[in-house]
Amino acid sequence: MGAATARPPTPLSRIDAPRQLLALESMIGSTPLIEILYRSRGKHRRIFAKYEQKNMTGSVKDRMALWIMARAHVSGALRRGDTIAEATSGNTGIAFAAIGRALGHPVVIFMPDWMSRERVALLETFGAEIVPVSTEQHGFCGSIVLADQYAEQATHRVFLPHQFDNPANCEAHERTTAPEIIAQLTSIGRACDAFVAGVGTGGTVMGVGRALRSRCPAVRVHPLEPANSPTLRTGKCSGTHRIQGISDEFVPSIVRLEELDPIVDVWDGDAILMAQGLAQVGLAVGISSGANFLGADCLLDDLGDDATVVTIFCDSNKKYLSTALCRPEPVLSEHRSPGIQLLSWRSIGMPP
Ligand code: PMP
Repeated sequence: MGAATARPPTPLSRIDAPRQLLALESMIGSTPLIEILYRSRGKHRRIFAKYEQKNMTGSVKDRMALWIMARAHVSGALRRGDTIAEATSGNTGIAFAAIGRALGHPVVIFMPDWMSRERVALLETFGAEIVPVSTEQHGFCGSIVLADQYAEQATHRVFLPHQFDNPANCEAHERTTAPEIIAQLTSIGRACDAFVAGVGTGGTVMGVGRALRSRCPAVRVHPLEPANSPTLRTGKCSGTHRIQGISDEFVPSIVRLEELDPIVDVWDGDAILMAQGLAQVGLAVGISSGANFLGADCLLDDLGDDATVVTIFCDSNKKYLSTALCRPEPVLSEHRSPGIQLLSWRSIGMPP
């Protein structure tokens, strides 16, 4: 009999996560990094994007849900059989529903009632209870208040992940997304010059940003938001937009703008056109991914065509088939996407 080979520690095993959560780790994270070659107003460029639809439920939010649940199990805040209740615009709900159900937790999701049909249907298939929250009930902000009230009034134990305030949200990206980006870029002889990501909770931009900066303080880290609904710039809900998953009506407490470089603005119609263009070359992504591509291209204007700019493709187009993503979108003079010609792309896996 040979000696058992010691397995290298995984991010979750380092925080002593329970076995049931470790068992899901191989389904979440370690996503490909896509290198896309393109022309932007005639200039040859490349950007890099983490392809998060490869996660268990098809979005970046699986990382955060698994990590928050692991931290909560370790601290005792979440126990076997507890109900998980969260306010979310969709992907977080889907992540908590699937991972929560996989571990036997009932899941209740409070969600603005204008989110896409596909999101609601997906939550239902996982057996989550959905509480739709109308504009009159204050939509997103109302969802957070209602989730808290539900927990206060419940006669059973309820765990509130509080994704907008929970440092474990950022930590998930600090401990998983960023090290993956570093390893994948290193495997092709590159280092990251800048990272940009649309802000929903801000967990992605804060967590990835911190890890990249701790390795190289000069790395630029930019939050992105819709130009037609500038929540970060104004500090409050202003205007409407169609980039589901970002700019959720308020600035979350985990977002520290003072740690970040300037905000990048992208028009929602431009993000839709870009996501449509990416699907035409086989990268079937959601609207926020289109926005993030454009944000990365914007940074290359400043940093130079050869800089290594990384972003994130948060989910696939499948949750947006009933939305503007699948309808003709008018091209406006302020749009960047008409000047972009996608040439080729390749997928960079996790190095062994
Ligand atoms: N895009 C999509 C599609 C999302 O669901 C989310 C999460 N709300 C984001 C972007 C933003 O990610 P984060 O919450 O980490 O800022």
